[in-house]
Formats: sequence, structure tokens, C-alpha cells
Amino acid sequence: MRGSVRPDDRLGSLTGCQISSRSVDLWDDEVDRGFREEVRAFLEGSLGGEFALVRGRGGPGDEHALFDERLDWERHLGRNGWTCVAWPKEHGGRGLSLRQQVIYHEEYARARGPGRLGHIGEGLVGPTLMAFGTDEQQRRFLPAIAAGEELWCQGYSEPDAGSDLANIQTRAVPVVDGDGDGGDGDGGAWAITGQKVWTSLAHWADWCFVLARTSPVDPGPGGRKHHGISYLLVPMRQVGVDIRPIVQVTGDSEFNEVFFDGARTSTANVVGEVGDGWRVAMGTLGFERGASTLGQQLNFRSELDAVVELARRNGRATDPVVRQRLARAHVELEVMRLNALRSTPGTDVVNKLHWASVHRSLGELAVDVLGPAGQLDPGDPLQRLFLFSRADTIYGGSNEIQRNIIGERALGLPKEPR
Ligand SMILES: Cc1cc2nc3c(=O)[nH]c(=O)nc-3n(C[C@H](O)[C@H](O)[C@H](O)COP(=O)(O)OP(=O)(O)OC[C@H]3O[C@@H](n4cnc5c(N)ncnc54)[C@H](O)[C@@H]3O)c2cc1C
Repeated sequence: MRGSVRPDDRLGSLTGCQISSRSVDLWDDEVDRGFREEVRAFLEGSLGGEFALVRGRGGPGDEHALFDERLDWERHLGRNGWTCVAWPKEHGGRGLSLRQQVIYHEEYARARGPGRLGHIGEGLVGPTLMAFGTDEQQRRFLPAIAAGEELWCQGYSEPDAGSDLANIQTRAVPVVDGDGDGGDGDGGAWAITGQKVWTSLAHWADWCFVLARTSPVDPGPGGRKHHGISYLLVPMRQVGVDIRPIVQVTGDSEFNEVFFDGARTSTANVVGEVGDGWRVAMGTLGFERGASTLGQQLNFRSELDAVVELARRNGRATDPVVRQRLARAHVELEVMRLNALRSTPGTDVVNKLHWASVHRSLGELAVDVLGPAGQLDPGDPLQRLFLFSRADTIYGGSNEIQRNIIGERALGLPKEPR
């Protein structure tokens, strides 16, 4: 086993045994060490200088902070080839191995890189276009995502379609006047009408990938709700798109209601076949539950570090129950990280259930360590961690839904009664 234990041994001294609060870099061979140095040098150079203002900003519960500055950061990353590190090189990525992706995200978290604005494009729609899109769609959209030039949002959920996603009512109908503004001089368009809800970052997005019904559900016995749905790429900055922020418990409004009223998109902007969008939508969900959250997960380590630091400062570290919970959180994060390293298609549901639950427990531990003070300062990062982590077990499919999937697909249990 090669590797190094970092000198930073705060949890070790807290619990009285010689373990490190930092993960052991079990795999860092010479090439990886060189890579780690390269990432670290780039991030330190940028965040220590020109971009010092955005350092540590824009994370969960702080999403509204410094939008323009973070957009500049996104483009700075893009210019230097540090967005979309998991994408293949031919699509403008870096083609990193899973191991190097983990290193990249660890270093990003360690350097307190700001919350990324482009993660929905990079993690969700980009991989979807690589898997299901046409060459033309890939050429049109991928470079702008990698460069941080176009931001995306996800138009799935509706007031009556969350867990029961196939129940969407938003409609898209073909129009013949040819003014779909897909920007490609198209001769035909779709007009989209309906309401989406919980649409993260819609207020900043240039584009939305929208699930819409393009043919009604067949009322006959074989009629299935997920048939007749299409996956459309819709420009957000147009008449016919109304975005209304929803204020969240954190006080920010990271997500929105989005009303489409005859909004247009070109016929060239349907991903997959018309009416076969469910298959594409499930592909995107696989990405959402899978490696796209790697960066976010590796950031949890810095959050635990902050909780440990606070416990030492305010004396809570002498409470045996708190000490046990801190140690358990350390182990859970380590398991999560090792799971991420071996994640393959098919393990995404288990991983999502695990990391979401781990993060929610970490949020609960954070406010317990904060004590009564946790209720006083709404800007406290650990209070924000608690509030935002409540959402982790909901978005991307709630914990109950992940358990249903595991029950039905992995354990072969009978389908739940409907
Ligand atoms: C922070 C955040 C960001 C989000 N961002 C987006 C976004 O950008 N785009 C987007 O489209 N959506 C987004 N969502 C929406 C998210 O996908 C939905 O909230 C989620 O799918 C659950 O749907 P729902 O809210 O309608 O709850 P419901 O589906 O109404 O569920 C309510 C409760 O019932 C449980 N439940 C429902 N059905 C079952 C069942 N069959 N078996 C057992 N239990 C069940 C659920 O687990 C939940 O506890 C976001 C949500 C959050 C919290």
C-alpha cells in the first residue's frame, strides 16, 4: 500500500488515537502525485490572486453569492481546461480517469473553490448529449458548456409530477411558422406550454432541458404514462418563459417556478426520437445520481473538518456522544469516497441513497455541535449546511424512491402497488 497520512491530525488527537481526519491518499502514485501538484498549483495561483473574492463562496445555502464573479471564474476554468474534466477529450473535456477526477475534486474542495455555476450543463445535459444527442447537437452545445459560456437548468418536476415523473402535463406541439429560435435557421419548431417547479438556477440559465408530452396518454389498457414524452432543449431567454423564484428555508432562492406559455424551440433541439424522451430522461437521471455529484461529495470532508474544529473550540468535543458521532461521520465519509472511486453504471442509486443520508446526518451533527447558537445566526455556514442538506434526500429522486428502485431492480421484489 503506497501513500501518505497527512500531518493534519485533528480528529486523531480529538479521539486520542492516531488516525488522520484527512483521507489517506492510498492510490497516489508518481503520476497522480504530479497531477495533484498541477491541480493544486493552478487553484492556488488563481484563488490566491485574481479570484480571491470567490474563494469559499456560492456553496449550498450561499448560491446567490457573487454571480458575476463566479461566472468569470467558470470561464477562467474553461479557458484553462479545468471544467468538464471527466468528459472525453474529443468533446472538449480532459478525459480524466475516475481516480484523477477524485483528486481534482479533492483539491478543489481543499482550495475552497467556489460553488460551480455550470454543474448542470457539465454533469447532466453534457453527458446526456454525448450518449443520446446528434453530432450537430453535440457541436452546438458542448463547447459552450465547457467554456462556461452557457448555463443550464433541468425542467423535469411539475406540481403533480415529482416522484411520479411520468405524470408531467407540460405539452409541446409542433408549429409551422418556423420561428423556433434554436439559432440554426430551422424550418420548424415546437411550442411548449406548462409549469415546471423546483427548477434550480433557472434564473441564471440560458437553456433548459424540458420533459414535455408530445402525444397524449393512450387511454386504452396498454396506455403507459411514460410513452409520448419528448426531451427538448429550450432557450430560456425568450417571451413565453416566466421565471418566479421560490424562497427557501435558507433564505435564498436557489430554485424557481418556471411557466412556459407557447415558448419555442427548434425541431433540431429534440434529443432522441420524438416521443422517446423517457429513455433519455432516465439516462440523465443516471448521471444525476452518479458521478456528477463527485465534487459535491468530496466537499463534505471540509464541512466535517469545520464541525470538528468547532467541537474543539466550544468544548463539545469532550461529550462522548459527540465524539462518537464525529468518528462515525469520518468513517462514513471515507466509505463514501471509496464507493465513489469504484462507482460503475448501476451503482448510482445505492450511492445516491448513501451520500444523501450521510450528508443529512452531517448537517444534524453540525447543528448539535453548534448548540443553541445554531439558531441565532442565519448566515452561519454550519446552520446553512443543516438546512440545505435536508434537500439532499429529496432531489434527484427521494430516498424512498431510491429504496423502491433497489427493492424492485436489485432484489427483485414485486412492484409496489399503484
Ligand atoms: C433543492 C432541490 C432542487 C431541485 N432541483 C430540481 C431541478 O432543478 N429540476 C427539477 O426538475 N426538479 C428539481 N427538484 C425537484 C425534485 O426532483 C423533487 O422534489 C423530487 O423528485 C420529489 O418530488 P416532489 O417534491 O413532487 O415530492 P413527492 O413526489 O410529492 O413526494 C412526497 C413524499 O412522498 C414520498 N413518496 C412519493 N412517492 C412515493 C412512493 N412511490 N413510495 C414511497 N414514497 C413515496 C417521497 O419520498 C416524499 O417523501 C429539486 C428539489 C430540491 C429539494
